[in-house]
Amino acid sequence: MLEINNLTIGYATAGGVVKAVNEVNFSVKPGQIVGLVGESGCGKSTALFSIMGLIKSPGKIVGGEIIYNGQNLANNTAEQWRNIRGKEIAMIFQDPMTTLNPAYKVGNQIREVLQTHRVIEPKKKGWLQRFNLKQQEKERVLTLMREVGISAPEQRYESYPHEFSGGMQQRILIAMGLACNPSLLLADEPTTALDVTIQAQILDLLKRINKEHGTSMIIVTHDLGMAAEFCHEVAVMYAGQIVERGPTDLIIENPKHPYTQGLLKSIPHITNTRQKIEPIPGTVIDLTKLGNECAFMARCPHAGAACHKHISMTQINEEHQVRCALYERGSEASGLQQAAGHL
Ligand code: SF4
Repeated sequence: MLEINNLTIGYATAGGVVKAVNEVNFSVKPGQIVGLVGESGCGKSTALFSIMGLIKSPGKIVGGEIIYNGQNLANNTAEQWRNIRGKEIAMIFQDPMTTLNPAYKVGNQIREVLQTHRVIEPKKKGWLQRFNLKQQEKERVLTLMREVGISAPEQRYESYPHEFSGGMQQRILIAMGLACNPSLLLADEPTTALDVTIQAQILDLLKRINKEHGTSMIIVTHDLGMAAEFCHEVAVMYAGQIVERGPTDLIIENPKHPYTQGLLKSIPHITNTRQKIEPIPGTVIDLTKLGNECAFMARCPHAGAACHKHISMTQINEEHQVRCALYERGSEASGLQQAAGHL
């Protein structure tokens, strides 16, 4: 349903074009949940925003394709984006308080999505039809509010965003996202602004929507543990590139890239009281200083001479890919690792 091919997004700066997303490839099948995982500044949200046509100047897509149901969205006009955005592809943003309009009742905000995309069309145009249309739209909004777990929706329809808790506001955003029954739902760190218990409820709700409606999802998160619980496939991003990609179980049980291994080692386990948390040393490389070599080199415990060149994706097996010199067939680093029994 969605194929991202060699997607590159650049930002024009005084020092030249900085590639926030660099030759990214991944796909989403119908009903699948894909996680884009990585630290802040790795390009995961930029990649997600491009699928909604929300890259703002000075950023722009400088290469690659976003193929959605056979159509390359990268070439869309503003009009074409308006027809797709919110209707076929919807998005849930990170902070509901800044996404919802504080001056409008939540019921009207959900209804506006239905009106924008003319989800319910009157057969005739008289005053009675307009009245009936309003009633039908309100019924649909109440159904959506019930579906996302808002109790007493008839009363809450008239409430303003500040009268809801953070978790309930996020449910309102999810209801807005579902209003047009989209086939693809994008979620940018949808639980980051919420308490841990509320996070679990929101993830359960998204899982239920995926199961009951077959809605495909892309979820952006910095939390590999959360992605492990929630996603069918994971793409780990670092400095604008996907460094490892595959089914979630494979990535969690047998991570290949040193960055993925580092992310997993830095997750605390509640049952293991003696576990030593090992943070990844250093910070994400400044993208303006990115050269041809592996972007993770300054932080990698296995960095060597073979890493001073462009590293391509290597197919570990049919489903699992990694971008690391250790796994490139016949490379010097690969030979060293095989001799040491790492592969
Ligand atoms: S290519 Fe080299 S520096 Fe980069 S992750 Fe692999 S071993 Fe580490």
